Amino acid sequence: MGKPTGFIEYLRELPSELQPDSRIGNWDEFHLPMPEEKLQTQAARCMDCGTPFCHTGTMLKGMASGCPINNLIPEWNDLIYRGRWREALDRLHKTNNFPEFTGRVCPAPCEGSCVLGIHNPPVTIKNIECSIIDKGWEEGWVEPEPPTKRTGKKVAIIGSGPAGLCAAAQLNKAGHWITVFEREDRPGGLLMYGIPNMKLDKKQVVQRRLDQLEQEGVKFICNTEVGKDFPTENLLKEFDAVVLCTGATKPRDLPIEGRDLKGIHFAMDFLTANTKALLDNSKNGNFISAEGKDVVIIGGGDTGTDCVGTSLRHGCKTLAQLEIMPQPPLERAPDNPWPEWPKIYRMDYGQEEAAAKFGADPRSYLTTATKFEGDEKGHVKAVHTVTIEWQKNEQGRFIPSPVPGTEKVIPAQLVLLAMGFLGPEQPLLDALGLERNARSNIKADYGKYATSIPGVFAAGDCRRGQSLVVWAFNEGRGAARECDRYLMGSTDLPG
Ligand SMILES: Cc1cc2nc3c(=O)[nH]c(=O)nc-3n(C[C@H](O)[C@H](O)[C@H](O)COP(=O)(O)OP(=O)(O)OC[C@H]3O[C@@H](n4cnc5c(N)ncnc54)[C@H](O)[C@@H]3O)c2cc1C
Ligand code: SF4
Repeated sequence: MGKPTGFIEYLRELPSELQPDSRIGNWDEFHLPMPEEKLQTQAARCMDCGTPFCHTGTMLKGMASGCPINNLIPEWNDLIYRGRWREALDRLHKTNNFPEFTGRVCPAPCEGSCVLGIHNPPVTIKNIECSIIDKGWEEGWVEPEPPTKRTGKKVAIIGSGPAGLCAAAQLNKAGHWITVFEREDRPGGLLMYGIPNMKLDKKQVVQRRLDQLEQEGVKFICNTEVGKDFPTENLLKEFDAVVLCTGATKPRDLPIEGRDLKGIHFAMDFLTANTKALLDNSKNGNFISAEGKDVVIIGGGDTGTDCVGTSLRHGCKTLAQLEIMPQPPLERAPDNPWPEWPKIYRMDYGQEEAAAKFGADPRSYLTTATKFEGDEKGHVKAVHTVTIEWQKNEQGRFIPSPVPGTEKVIPAQLVLLAMGFLGPEQPLLDALGLERNARSNIKADYGKYATSIPGVFAAGDCRRGQSLVVWAFNEGRGAARECDRYLMGSTDLPG
């Protein structure tokens, strides 16, 4: 433990950010680096509390408590306090292949279960993680490390999101030849084409790791959808094992009156085309502009927030975000104690930016859309909404019921549906003849990752349903370990 009294002496401090009204003028990341002395004092707040919960990574009431990849947090906090950055980086890479991604986009369940957080603001774990790896890259400490020996075994990984990339990195480390198939024109999955550039820079941060993986011998085949551009039946003929990391990409729809009007899009179509335009420096026919429009975003989660931030950067005229759930409390409710993930009201970056531009958080809680209204050209012009109450039905399930007299009409020339995802797309899984669970996810036990077909493994959102980058890391690493065991009879890969 660095400084026994650090948590008493120092207050929690996060890095400065560019102000919302200035950052919405561009697509750059907006967190500014923190000076090293400040990071050392922040690391000194770690109490080395004997039984740390921050790295446990368990599920409590359906939410992660502690770090799902079991990052060695107290150890690297201590090393940072002592200025031993290189060793801290080595510790971080033991459990995390790509800390620059989680250090930027993870919601940090570790901080929700930090023991200091019982009475004080928790340690700034996520920012310390990000600073360690950013310094590692700056100093040239992160270098390609191709395996010294090859096993001659070939593994196909389908999908190049965080689960696929972790599986590729680990299996390559074990000496297998790795081919990653990706249907998009660039690898990265939602790291590339979901999470927007201002949260996770594509050219500097994502591409840098993709280049490193290639230098280590991983082969990426893009613009290739397995099941369409590459025959499914060739997978197990050409490869010794397969790891499916295809994500949970089937969006939830809202089949209400007017759904087929023009100007109503799934959030991912909007976000993907936006990042593509940014990277290619050209807007193709799929680009959807929010410029000068009244925008309504349906869904108050991460995807909705990214639509808020993106619409603001396009220069939308007004912005409203509908959320069907109630506004969370400002502090932990009695039935949500530490070390559970604190379900409290937060303004994410998009809402902060909307508040700076339009004066208030754009979210309306307990609100749903009832109808889309169109103009004479078949284009959406308004969204009809109503406030709802959650009431128990006869079976004891909570269902939403409209509150009479609360109907509203909001102008909208662009509507973005960001209501979550319903699991993986099914055609490839049908073609392989894989067993599914009741939620249409691939059936493969957590920790084993083996599907109903020998030699075929599944990891990430296609196995567990829509989740987080850090869980995709956990599963990609775990599936790699089990795949290596299948190929070699035993494995030295960690979980
Ligand atoms: C807009 C948005 C924002 C998010 N923000 C955050 C965040 O801030 N923090 C966080 O922790 N989580 C966030 N998430 C969730 C997180 O991104 C996912 O949980 C994570 O990316 C899942 O990883 P994955 O590797 O399982 O799948 P994905 O990242 O979905 O990757 C799957 C890949 O498989 C490819 N693919 C599918 N089928 C085929 C096929 N047949 N052939 C070839 N390729 C195929 C897809 O094109 C895709 O690239 C966000 C999700 C969305 C949608
Ligand atoms: S990966 Fe996420 S949960 Fe784990 S230490 Fe980093 S921020 Fe915390």
